[in-house]
Amino acid sequence: MFNVGVTLSVEAPLNRLVPKDSYDVVVVGGGPAGSIAAKTCAEAGLTVLLAEKRPDLGVPNRCAEGIPREQMEQFVKPKDSWIASVVNAGYAISPGGYVAGQVFENAGYVLERKVFDRDLFAAAGEAGADIFPKTEAVELIMDGEAASAVRFTLRDRNVKAVKTLAVIGADGVESVIGKSAGLTTAIPPKETHSCAQYLMTGVELERDDCLYFYVGRDIAPGGYAWAFPKGGGLYNVGLGVCPDSAGGRNAFGCLNAFVGERFPGAKAVEIHMGLVPASGSLKRFTRGNVALVGDAARHSDPFSGAGLIHAMYSGKMAAESVVSAVTDGGDIVESFVENYKKPWEKGIGKKLKQFYKVRNMFLDITDGELDTIIRRLGEVVGEKRIGVSDIIPTLLKVLMSTPSLIPKTRHLL
Ligand SMILES: Cc1cc2nc3c(=O)[nH]c(=O)nc-3n(C[C@H](O)[C@H](O)[C@H](O)COP(=O)(O)OP(=O)(O)OC[C@H]3O[C@@H](n4cnc5c(N)ncnc54)[C@H](O)[C@@H]3O)c2cc1C
Repeated sequence: MFNVGVTLSVEAPLNRLVPKDSYDVVVVGGGPAGSIAAKTCAEAGLTVLLAEKRPDLGVPNRCAEGIPREQMEQFVKPKDSWIASVVNAGYAISPGGYVAGQVFENAGYVLERKVFDRDLFAAAGEAGADIFPKTEAVELIMDGEAASAVRFTLRDRNVKAVKTLAVIGADGVESVIGKSAGLTTAIPPKETHSCAQYLMTGVELERDDCLYFYVGRDIAPGGYAWAFPKGGGLYNVGLGVCPDSAGGRNAFGCLNAFVGERFPGAKAVEIHMGLVPASGSLKRFTRGNVALVGDAARHSDPFSGAGLIHAMYSGKMAAESVVSAVTDGGDIVESFVENYKKPWEKGIGKKLKQFYKVRNMFLDITDGELDTIIRRLGEVVGEKRIGVSDIIPTLLKVLMSTPSLIPKTRHLL
């Protein structure tokens, strides 16, 4: 017999199994938006519950995992374990084979979301939040305009209502919190991208530190395809289509055709799917003491589909609104509007509105026009080095200055 010198108890401490009866803030959803929100509140000394319905963070993966380095570093210091590969270049390829892009040294990363999401969730716990995986929010308990509590199904299937001063709904595209708060979260299919992705081996590409984007009505109607390096010879190969533009084809059908054509020797290691909102921010993403953040609020970029940076940004903003109200003895309802909703709408929300118009314009673009755009973009970036943050403004300039496109681009001004 060996003696490890400790007495093991079969009873784990209660606070590891069941959330307390009340918290200053309840954050629903353990993705990047929720974990950053919970961490921010906990660091300021608020009591916080962060609840995630899945048993494993970041699983299944619903992301191509690309992220720009500088923007990411505004929120978190990257750890080696999160980084599947460093991105040093980006290229867009048109249906006729024109290429636009350049080298952007150390521009970003392709993440390992399974590790990234789990670490952010753990960091919220380290900052003092009570973190609960496999704990699903079912509904808000409303008291007039305000939520007095959130009802959860706990990991043992028992149900518990947790009282709170404020709720941050970081529960992604399907947002139960948004619906339960009475916010209009439904968006029509034409304002979504339906996505399919394989993690693949045997993808033959020139560079393994480059993001490749492929456009074309046949390749990805209303969207685009991508190949992002994951290190060790693996790539995320996927695409998003606009269901209303796809003429009955679905994302996996398009992806299989694309892979068969471009990467005939490639083999799938994992299969991923997901929906990207392409509507721009919801008209109303706060109600009373409830604020939606990240994908729940439709804060992802309608043009590129990227949402990680905006998820973290909005999670932080909403959390800081609660912190300032609680610590200054102010009103949370007012603080959500004044310190989160209004500044968001004036800043990023405004940009998202423009990207929404650009995205809708691309729904109408022919393959010949895509060839012209990529050829001209290639000429512009070939002459002058641009930064990552200049890509969209440069694309807009190209769109506006291409005479044959003026009938379609006029309304972007
Ligand atoms: C195929 C695809 C590719 C993408 N590629 C990129 C990319 O390369 N770069 C990029 O920036 N963005 C990309 N995105 C978008 C990006 O993944 C999202 O914008 C980002 O994950 C949003 O973060 P979030 O925290 O708001 O939501 P999520 O990451 O979706 O997290 C929400 C969390 O809430 C949990 N949850 C849901 N309901 C409940 C409930 N009732 N109770 C408790 N928990 C709940 C979910 O399980 C989930 O963990 C991609 C999306 C897709 C679908």
